[in-house]
Amino acid sequence: MASFSPEKIAAYFAPQGLLQKFVTEYKYRSEQAELAAAIAGALMEDRFLVAEAGTGVGKTLAYLLPAIEWAKTQHEKVVITTKTRALQQQIIEKDIPDLKRALQMDIACVEAKGRDNYLCWNKYIEILAGKRALKPEEQEFMTAVLKWAENTKTGDKKEISLKSSLLRHWHLLASDRRSCLRNKCQFHDKCFRLKMIKSLEKADLIITNHAMLLSDILVDNSILPEYKYLVVDEAHALERESFDKLALSFVREEITEVLKVLEFHDKGFKRGYLRQLRRKNQQLAIDESLTLTAKTADLAEQFFNQLSLGLRKNDSFSLVLTDEITEKTWFKKAFEIYSDWQHLMRLLINSLKQLSRDIEEEEEPELFNIIAVLEEISDNAFCIMDEDLGTEAKIVWIETGGEQAISISSSHVRIGEILDNKLYAKLSGLIMLSATLAIEDKFDFFIEKVGLSQYTGTERLDCLLEKSPFDYKNQACLYILSDMPDPKHQEFSQTVARVMMKLLSAAKGRTMVLFTAKKSLSEVSQLLRPFCEQEGIPLLVQNEDGSFGAMMEEYARNNNAVLMGLDTFWEGVDLKGDLLTLLVVVKLPFRSLSEPYSSAGDKYFRLQNRNSFSNFLLPDAAVRFKQGVGRLIRSETDRGLVIVMDNRLAAKAYGKVFLDSIPIKNTIETEKDKLTTLIGDWL
Ligand code: SF4
Repeated sequence: MASFSPEKIAAYFAPQGLLQKFVTEYKYRSEQAELAAAIAGALMEDRFLVAEAGTGVGKTLAYLLPAIEWAKTQHEKVVITTKTRALQQQIIEKDIPDLKRALQMDIACVEAKGRDNYLCWNKYIEILAGKRALKPEEQEFMTAVLKWAENTKTGDKKEISLKSSLLRHWHLLASDRRSCLRNKCQFHDKCFRLKMIKSLEKADLIITNHAMLLSDILVDNSILPEYKYLVVDEAHALERESFDKLALSFVREEITEVLKVLEFHDKGFKRGYLRQLRRKNQQLAIDESLTLTAKTADLAEQFFNQLSLGLRKNDSFSLVLTDEITEKTWFKKAFEIYSDWQHLMRLLINSLKQLSRDIEEEEEPELFNIIAVLEEISDNAFCIMDEDLGTEAKIVWIETGGEQAISISSSHVRIGEILDNKLYAKLSGLIMLSATLAIEDKFDFFIEKVGLSQYTGTERLDCLLEKSPFDYKNQACLYILSDMPDPKHQEFSQTVARVMMKLLSAAKGRTMVLFTAKKSLSEVSQLLRPFCEQEGIPLLVQNEDGSFGAMMEEYARNNNAVLMGLDTFWEGVDLKGDLLTLLVVVKLPFRSLSEPYSSAGDKYFRLQNRNSFSNFLLPDAAVRFKQGVGRLIRSETDRGLVIVMDNRLAAKAYGKVFLDSIPIKNTIETEKDKLTTLIGDWL
């Protein structure tokens, strides 16, 4: 094996090693060197490694360096996947250039991004040819990107710098699976997305994200080239994302849109692709297709309206279809409508195929594409309604928007098994990393849910825990408010707001508040806003004060702001230094069993006669708590406090699981009136 060994890798990280010489701000940390050596060992011996690296260990360099060395010395491709685009970008723009300098190596590193990042020539030319009516703002967007589109070498959206109000029209030009004409496209040879896919063949390192990795699995590995070595960063999110990505959906808007392309009525005029076809081919018999299109569209509407009748006013986002629900009259009626719709869809597809045979198929790639889209919609609906509904291995749910059903979807109960069959089974080496994998220093929960159980106890799988090098004892403290009302109590939000006012006065902003529910977030924000305005504290609330990026910029610009947010804020915030001094956790992040993902997790354990609270809901919430708390201390000079307003953390026995899983060990239980005095020293 040409000059590759864990010892050699560890030497790069040693004091006075190459990284020290060439990477600015590099600082030796034994945890990082150990992690890098363990990763090198796993790659060398074709093993799987699950590793938690606490904040500050420097896990990105710890896997990038051995991955590069392995790829270069063994001529093997290594795929690296992250959950977030931000990390993917940091690797491409900072870490890889640093390592190229340090290793003095020419590394072919290619970023594999989703197709919606790339300009589609076909869409662009159609707009330029005036085939699509544009609204004034869309026209403005087109004018703004014209010069870029004519000159770009990559077609990558990231090259465009436009204000977000214009950039939101990017979808007009973005490549999308549904409209892509594939090898029938006249721009096939200059297609930016296809060029990117081709460039992956020559890459040593492919940097991608979980969504793209999973898309590749969905299309039988036809996007990424063959690879045997995979590094999964932010691995805590892989299984959750797989549940969404590997789901099937039958979407109301999708079927409506595609049928509208075939035939639509506009101010008394009948237009659409079928009539356009007949104008070009006067002999073409389109009447049957027109009638079937209208009937299919009508039944699709009826089907989703019928599903909507079963929704209760308070069904927030989804309704999981249990056996009890599918026995109800409203659902049985919906199923009957669906069966009639499916029958008509088959007739419509056959009728369009006949049209395709009647004309010169090559001249009408759009018809070919419409047929493919209709077949996919019909097949998805068949899998969900005729195959998945009522089976043990699947969970089926209705997605809601307002009081309307917007889609019906299904996904896997044993997502880990799917990952094993479709991903791990073809790998020689697999590295799974994150700052939050272990619960009470054990990896069992992660290993089971991600589908690696069958490798435990074998030589194939190792686990490694590298704790954060930060001095948490002196850098952080956690307070639990013992006299808060129960989170379900109607006074809870008011009490949270009252405590927050005191805290904000004491901390002068510099606070982030993590919520688990939209309702609670908006109740507290309404109560706090007048106070913040009066005190001159900028209040930045998710869904109320702009995009995530805009809120983070605004927060960093002020030194006394407050951020309040939901899920994205539990994971995606990285504020170093004095910017974040107080982190408030309003409620322990238990998932609701009405969410499809939690319902699937619950079903998985119930099918095995195992307790789903202790095996799923509790460890899942503990991991999310650990992620949230991890937002506070981001560097060795940070200091700060966590305040938990959910007294179940102290009152319930399971609170120990949460507390044992986080790196902060100074925990103090106190009453809310004593809090501001107690925390004075820290602020
Ligand atoms: S191949 Fe697809 S994505 Fe590429 S230019 Fe053609 S239609 Fe657009």
